Amino acid sequence: MDLEYTIHYVKKLDAYLTDCYRGNREFSNLPRKWNTAVAGAKDNFLLHNDIVFHPVRRWGTMGFGVWIGGVLSSQMNAYAVPLNAWVLPKDMSRLTGTIIKLWRDNGERDKRPKGRFRLYLDSVGVKRFREMVVEEYGPLARDPGSKFQRKPRSHFGIHKQKQEGLYYAGIHIPVGRLDVVDLHRLSILSRYGKGEVRLTEDQNVILVNIPEDQLDFVRKDVIIERYFPLEPGPVAAGTVACTGSQFCGFAITDTKGDAERIAKELEYELEIPEEVKIHWTGCPNSCGQAYMGGIGLTGTKVKDGLGYNITVGGSHLQVGEEYKKGVPLDELKDVLKEILIERFDAKLRKFPHL
Ligand code: SF4
Repeated sequence: MDLEYTIHYVKKLDAYLTDCYRGNREFSNLPRKWNTAVAGAKDNFLLHNDIVFHPVRRWGTMGFGVWIGGVLSSQMNAYAVPLNAWVLPKDMSRLTGTIIKLWRDNGERDKRPKGRFRLYLDSVGVKRFREMVVEEYGPLARDPGSKFQRKPRSHFGIHKQKQEGLYYAGIHIPVGRLDVVDLHRLSILSRYGKGEVRLTEDQNVILVNIPEDQLDFVRKDVIIERYFPLEPGPVAAGTVACTGSQFCGFAITDTKGDAERIAKELEYELEIPEEVKIHWTGCPNSCGQAYMGGIGLTGTKVKDGLGYNITVGGSHLQVGEEYKKGVPLDELKDVLKEILIERFDAKLRKFPHL
């Protein structure tokens, strides 16, 4: 049940929270940052947000199950939990406002690290918090069962849209790095559709509304062939990397540089049957969402240099678990090889000339 106009709901929420972009005093002094997310389909990568609206029908009517309290941060990594509430699209803003105001008025303000909404939610308990929401908002319909797709679809390659005769192309942006020349390249590619590009949660791009008679031109376009492949390798495809030390003052490590180099080496040395999500983050703030990765890497200082803490087992449905701490950079590739062989069915490539 994909929604055709998810962006419509997002814009309405945006206008509500910002008072039509004039600035909204109601929400201008919160204990910490707040993240709102709306999913358009069952393959949902949004459970790390403070509130998540997940599409589900109730008695045949389209609406949203509500999940709250997701957080990926230096303090805590946990996914949103169900509020056991369902709303019509017209009620999304009012419910969001009610929840934010409860946290605004009761959340922790003196101890900054404890300011995130999830810590407040845990201190109250979800059951009691739901009662508090009902006291302010009014009765809430019960969630009829928000269900998530266990294995999300890949966007890479060319796929039919539901609109007759139109296609979309999922293209790979290596380590999510786009400079000004790349943006110009994307603008050229967007002309195969109607001048629109969409950005994905995992730092890639989708070109939309491409007519069938343009598909061969897209496939053979020199920009696709040289820079933004339709079918990236299994490590590159799943690599997500935060800004890192190239541009971020908090960074301990050069996430994008390390990720790009090691992805190439791993793909050269291993046969890996399918895409592996490897998330790189340059410090514990976790902008690269390390705990979402099948393998998660968080930059750290180690004796005599830099390295990474490693988590494994993360996905869009569960946060990862600690695997190894303080792996020096020059040992990292070998540790990743071990994990890929042990847990992701990778095999060492045979090189006949050796
Ligand atoms: S995770 Fe840390 S290094 Fe990476 S962008 Fe965020 S603050 Fe910067």
